[in-house]
Amino acid sequence: MSLNETNNNKNFNFSFEIFPPKDDITGEKTENLYKEIDVLNKHNPTLFSVTFGAGGSNKDLSFGIVKHLINNNIEVMPHFTCICTSTSQINERLEELKKLNVKNILALRGDEPKDITVCYPDFRYANQLVKYIKQNTNFNISVACYPEGHIEAENLDKDIINFKHKVDEGAVQAFSQMFFDNSKFMFFLDKVYKTGINIPIIPGILPVTSYKQINKMLSLARVTFPKNLMEKLEKYQNDKYAMSQIGIEFATKQCLELLEKYGINNFHFYTLNKSFAVDEIIKNLK
Ligand code: FAD
Repeated sequence: MSLNETNNNKNFNFSFEIFPPKDDITGEKTENLYKEIDVLNKHNPTLFSVTFGAGGSNKDLSFGIVKHLINNNIEVMPHFTCICTSTSQINERLEELKKLNVKNILALRGDEPKDITVCYPDFRYANQLVKYIKQNTNFNISVACYPEGHIEAENLDKDIINFKHKVDEGAVQAFSQMFFDNSKFMFFLDKVYKTGINIPIIPGILPVTSYKQINKMLSLARVTFPKNLMEKLEKYQNDKYAMSQIGIEFATKQCLELLEKYGINNFHFYTLNKSFAVDEIIKNLK
């Protein structure tokens, strides 16, 4: 199936991000993840994307999940980081993905890992990786983008110029960082299209199900969070069920507004390896 093909009755496209579970000594967490994937896969997603630890620390786990998805005939997009990675490591990993018959790849810089012993200087920014993959392989290359600007960028305009470098080097699609204010996303899209970028940009939707988790995520990214939503989450932070209902309701409304007001029907969900909230949101949308 191609990346942009519509595959359900109401013309929605969904894709799901998952990550290799940490400290999974017995393999139980990965088995549980596979059960969550089965639930999500019933929604006929365009693809599952699988995160990759910058520096390659969890390469085998990440590629193991990629292999599981391929073996189950599920379309997959491995994330692929280049920071601190040598050209020969990049070549080996690309070769490994080629052998698995992977078609799509999300080319990323990643953040420099704190515990790394050797940091190779071969790739500094994601656009260099995009160029390298484009010149040496046939993968469909996607990239990341940041509706409110990447946290290191001086401002949104400069970040968009850097985003354009990735597109000029061969990216065919972009997945956005999470956002909670649709007007910020639309403002970004407007600016992006005015710079001449004309690839599909898939909005990243995070159903909030944990007060602690969202606060941690917000500290690592430049993302505006609605005050009234934060107040609600704070109030119900010890009530897991109420918290997830608040997150589900917010994300449902967010997707509906994107659809009804702006005609956007393609959503990339940050699942946090749980199917429950995403499953409910999609049922609400259908
Ligand atoms: P880049 O596009 O290289 O941008 C990084 C910063 O450098 C930006 O501020 C940009 O403006 C600036 N910049 C870019 N090019 C230049 C240049 N030529 N000169 C000067 N400045 C420049 N991280 C992981 O470790 N693993 C994952 O699996 C993962 N998945 C992600 C998925 C999505 C959809 C998103 C949005 C992010 C993901 N990340 C992941 C996080 C990402 O790796 C970090 O945000 C990282 O800091 C930037 O990666 P990038 O590919 O966007 O970098």
